[in-house]
Amino acid sequence: MPTRPCWVEISTRALEGNFRFLASLAAPHAELLAIVKANAYGHSLALCAPAAVRGGARWLGVTSVEEGIAARELCPDAQILVIGGVFPGQGAAGLAHRLTPVAWEAWHFDELASAARAAKAPSGPIPGSVPIHLEIDTGMSRQGADPNALGPLLARFGPGSPLRLEGVMTHLFAADEAGGEITQSQLALLDQALGRISAAGHFAEWLNVGNSAALLAGQAPALAELAARHGMKAMIRPGLVLYGLIPEFTPDFKPPVAAAEPASLTRARAALAPVLAWKSQVVTVRSVPAGTLVGYNGTFVATEPMRLALVAAGYGDGLDRKLDRSLGNRFSLLVRGERAPIVGRISMDQTVLDVTEIPGVAPGDEVVLLGEQGGETITAFDHARAGATIPWEVFTRIAARASRIAV
Ligand SMILES: *Cc1c(COP(=O)(O)O)cnc(C)c1O
Repeated sequence: MPTRPCWVEISTRALEGNFRFLASLAAPHAELLAIVKANAYGHSLALCAPAAVRGGARWLGVTSVEEGIAARELCPDAQILVIGGVFPGQGAAGLAHRLTPVAWEAWHFDELASAARAAKAPSGPIPGSVPIHLEIDTGMSRQGADPNALGPLLARFGPGSPLRLEGVMTHLFAADEAGGEITQSQLALLDQALGRISAAGHFAEWLNVGNSAALLAGQAPALAELAARHGMKAMIRPGLVLYGLIPEFTPDFKPPVAAAEPASLTRARAALAPVLAWKSQVVTVRSVPAGTLVGYNGTFVATEPMRLALVAAGYGDGLDRKLDRSLGNRFSLLVRGERAPIVGRISMDQTVLDVTEIPGVAPGDEVVLLGEQGGETITAFDHARAGATIPWEVFTRIAARASRIAV
């Protein structure tokens, strides 16, 4: 049955190409883990996780055990990192689906060790059989263990434990600042923590650090060097860039604030392709006389005889209400390759466009909310700026009722 026309087109080929390009950017310094949390940033896990694997991803990153179980069904051979950790009672399911949890709290280790023992996971002398990535808080104060109090956690990997320290992880929380001072101090703390881990007799294979901004800022060689100093291999966890968007650097790579733009960032600007386009259709077109009120509370009044197009998408589909003019914005959507301003309040399910200046608009015409049409483009950054938010939120807010279609 045809559905209401509000949908999201996903170019799985663009995602595959983006992963291949990013992997070449990281090579030979770092392995990439493809972040597909939150339904692949709203792009559809079902479409994007297998596409990342086709592009060469061996590792996928999800938030939770439940997202990991969904990813496991799609990608039987991938290594799946659960970056948000396990919650009480989830250890057994995580184990059964061969997920790799990030852990940093004592109760994470209790949960995982008791699930592993219940499943009779081999404990060996050292190491055990259940891989864990230990997160260290290097300054973000969000999640991760205190680098000065690692002893009791490291003891959880001792002889007879079913748990194995496979990775050490941290999150660079200011990798999008071209100056990079915070990142430098985080890496110095990480270096010290790694020294303590090996001094305590523990060794991990992976040093799991950094996001899209870290990769594009050219951190891969430095991470590889840090990892090699501790007998480890570097892993970077890009999300946004996989979906074809380049994070903004603030301050930017412009002298005198910072050095010139790194080559990795310049190359990415040329190589990455957007994966998502969000579309709808014109439902009806009407002509109204000057003075006509439009939308809730008549916040827009026609200034002249106008032609108005009704679009089958509203804030219930994820369009930010702050984009409407009554809230101070002047945002446009694309119809017939031209920009048609939103007039009146955005409703839950509908939006009205001024198409007075665009000849021939008719019911059934495609409307682009995000993406390209006739050489004009609306990006997630355009939505984010108008809605006072970030592209990550623009993507994850696109409602589930807008079906995701592979193109
Ligand atoms: C979401 C997330 C990422 C990816 O961040 P991007 O900025 O989208 O590349 C990496 N690591 C962790 C821990 C995350 O939560």
